[in-house]
Amino acid sequence: MAGASGATGHVMIERGEGAAVKYEVVAEAYRDLERVSGRLALIERLAQLLAATPDGLLATVCYLCQGLIAPEFAGVDLGLAEKLAVRALATAAGTGAEDAAASVREAGDLGQAGEQLLAAAAADRPASLPVAVVVDTLHQIAAAAGQGSQGRKLGLLAGLLGQATPLEARYLLRLVTGNLRLGIGTPTILDSLAQVHAGGRADRPVLERAYNICCDLGKVAAALAAGGLAAVEELRVQPGNPVRAMLAQRLSEPAEILAKLGGRCAAEYKYDGVRVQAHKTADGQIELYTRRLERVSSQFPDVVEALAAGLGPAEAILEGEVVAYDAAAGELHPFGEVMFRRRKHGISEAMADVPVGLFCFELLYADGADLTRLPYPRRRAALAAAVTVSPQLRLTTATEAGTPAALETAFEQAVTDGCEGLVCKSVGPAAVYQAGARGWLWIKLKRDYRTELSDTADLVVVGAFAGRGRRRGVYGALLLAAYDPAADVFRTVTKCGTGFSDAELAALPARLAPLARAVRPARVDARQQPDVWFEPGLVLEILSAELTLSPTYTAAWGQLKDDAGLAMRFPRFTGRYRDDKAPEDATTTGELAGLYRTAQRKPAGS
Ligand code: ATP
Repeated sequence: MAGASGATGHVMIERGEGAAVKYEVVAEAYRDLERVSGRLALIERLAQLLAATPDGLLATVCYLCQGLIAPEFAGVDLGLAEKLAVRALATAAGTGAEDAAASVREAGDLGQAGEQLLAAAAADRPASLPVAVVVDTLHQIAAAAGQGSQGRKLGLLAGLLGQATPLEARYLLRLVTGNLRLGIGTPTILDSLAQVHAGGRADRPVLERAYNICCDLGKVAAALAAGGLAAVEELRVQPGNPVRAMLAQRLSEPAEILAKLGGRCAAEYKYDGVRVQAHKTADGQIELYTRRLERVSSQFPDVVEALAAGLGPAEAILEGEVVAYDAAAGELHPFGEVMFRRRKHGISEAMADVPVGLFCFELLYADGADLTRLPYPRRRAALAAAVTVSPQLRLTTATEAGTPAALETAFEQAVTDGCEGLVCKSVGPAAVYQAGARGWLWIKLKRDYRTELSDTADLVVVGAFAGRGRRRGVYGALLLAAYDPAADVFRTVTKCGTGFSDAELAALPARLAPLARAVRPARVDARQQPDVWFEPGLVLEILSAELTLSPTYTAAWGQLKDDAGLAMRFPRFTGRYRDDKAPEDATTTGELAGLYRTAQRKPAGS
């Protein structure tokens, strides 16, 4: 049945050699990947799996390594309710639903319970399920909608589990309920791909660039398998494929910013909202993606409407910040209001309660032209030509600045007008759009860098320490890490227990429970032993007074001093959960090292 066309419209797996590969091979790799304790071991084990995968199946297996069955941005929602999965398991294992539910409660994990029940019911079952059949059926489960869909989903899953080995059942159940957290970052998979299908890990940057402009690991892998690195280099920006966001570095002094940007820059207001990338495809459809590649058009139908009316090109990729904005009063509102709107259910009510505007700052593609390779001033001119502004569709306010005083004035004006500060952008000939990079072509200057408490960082929760005394039963402190993108590893920088309300403290254990691990996750680098580890997943905004060197923390280890890393002193949670950020979008260890160096250059107390 592999290769049959599915109702879901996804690319079907080719017949031929790929069709015979057993899902058991993937399940065994998952099992091994869960056990390994270092990133190199992850790369090796993944490489082994990819080397054993025929070309026709490589894209599918890459998605499976991401815990997906299609590229992330496709929004294929497997998230089956656990209750339904338990019923399917009961059918497949020949037990009652109540017994299956009790096993799940006892094991504390659906996957493990499934493995145990099938081990009892079908211990000798040989592995027979091809990857292609599994993935095709999962697509059918995801696509089932409308009347009777619950029954169809249940039947399809029970059918799969009825043929699965216990190990396969473990991962199938986790995958369909959205709980397959393998803790493998995309850079790690790219390393393995480069090792198997290119000249080694040194070729990862070529693959990375391609991934950054299409956000589709399967597409990159398929191109690599079919035509080698040359084919990967041929991949182009295309509406419908999100481009990974270009990001900003940070500095606190206008003079330093100008020095970095060659003496002149465009000073754009930094709006405090949600960044979206709008894709207008040839069929006239407009889709909005967040930085985490979620589709959010349904949350912002008013933004889609404004774009439909005001975006000229027939095909385009545009970026902007959705901000809570009262167009009549010309007033910007704080970030919290947009997030509130995103969480609301009744969209018409939310639209009335929290009106928003889109402040556009980038045009990456227009009518067949890839603009990402053009310098910023040309992109900005193209953006201005492509957009007919309206109350809800604006361009970001931008001025040119060539002196620290001019930059300072622009900054103060931005803050007065309700913005966070500025994004200062290079206007030089090399100022291309760097997809997925946090380079020095954009430098942000924010209000909080200038306060006494200096700076905020977005850090990832990787562990927790049990509370004592008044905090008994909740966490006393969280172990937090910054991201090291070169190594695709999270390195610790501080322990934080301050700034959380009682309600937040009470809610944290449940919020973090799906990420909890008994042993240190492979991509976490730490020298401490917290009471519980977490797979990197939750990002918090943390205010810190000071960075110091420390033998206890591993961020920027050895970079500033031998046998020492960076530690953040007196950290405090600002109350802002950065749910808009993936762990890989957190503050990097390089940024923290830069902040430390800058602070060292300043006289004390300034
Ligand atoms: P922060 O937490 O400071 O918002 P971030 O890590 O989300 O930063 P950065 O790339 O460091 O992202 O800072 C730039 C962010 O600011 C963009 O991702 C975007 O969401 C927002 N932004 C607001 N106004 C602008 C603008 N005029 N140009 C570019 N980005 C802007």
